[in-house]
Amino acid sequence: MQTLIFATNNKNKVEEINSILNGIIEIKTMSQAGIEADIPEPHDTLEANATEKSSYIFNLLGKDCFSEDTGLEVFALNGEPGVRSARYAGDDSDSEKNIEKLLKNLENIDNREAQFRTVISLFFKGKEYLFEGVCRGNITASRRGTKGFGYDPVFIPAGSSKSFAEMNMEEKNQYSHRKKATAQLIEFLKKSYGQN
Ligand code: IMP
Repeated sequence: MQTLIFATNNKNKVEEINSILNGIIEIKTMSQAGIEADIPEPHDTLEANATEKSSYIFNLLGKDCFSEDTGLEVFALNGEPGVRSARYAGDDSDSEKNIEKLLKNLENIDNREAQFRTVISLFFKGKEYLFEGVCRGNITASRRGTKGFGYDPVFIPAGSSKSFAEMNMEEKNQYSHRKKATAQLIEFLKKSYGQN
């Protein structure tokens, strides 16, 4: 089985990606690869931040690796919080505070349309490849559900009546941005490994 280093220590992301990879590819987190670092995300696009994280690992170890960066883009807020999703309510913010700010900013706004966008940056044999996954949906008026992480309690994907936080992982994977981006990564790796 091929092993890839995943440039993250975010347990939720690792759990979701592992559920999607389903044993096809083995991933090692940064701490499993012996790297203790908090890689900065200083850029103003998801693509540039994803590249920052994967190139950091590639430059350090010279091994195949990938990273992902995700943002929630709310149309009535001109795409905010977007690339600033993790720090929407400030540098010391957490998901609770971020959701609170989001719901406040959408008070009295009828257009609740939004999308999650995930960008994966893969370094494979020294070259970078980017993959994107988008999930369209709507922001709820208040929190719903207790599963998942981040903005899951306030996001209902198009075609569902449940929020992401009301779904188990299998259900979330039927809609999710991360699933769509990871499916492309798997497709690419299957083809590339198949060629050797
Ligand atoms: P980052 O990709 O780690 O920078 O995450 C950006 C922000 O979006 C963080 O606040 C995450 O909690 C949140 N986030 C990322 N992926 C998801 C998801 O699948 N559902 C809900 N929130 C997410």
